[in-house]
Amino acid sequence: MPLYEFQCKKCKENFEISCSLKEYEETKPSCPKCKSKEVSRRISLFFAKTDSKT
Ligand SMILES: [Zn+2]
Repeated sequence: MPLYEFQCKKCKENFEISCSLKEYEETKPSCPKCKSKEVSRRISLFFAKTDSKT
């Protein structure tokens, strides 16, 4: 399963969610700390690895 990384825009908390893309779209992740839905998605570790050729 892909791992999604998020950062809360309000409290700057970083958190990870492992779920399918379908689940992700249906659930709309919220910050585990302040429960805000104002979160920005970061690049997942899986994709970051394939992009590190240098
Ligand atoms: Zn938060």
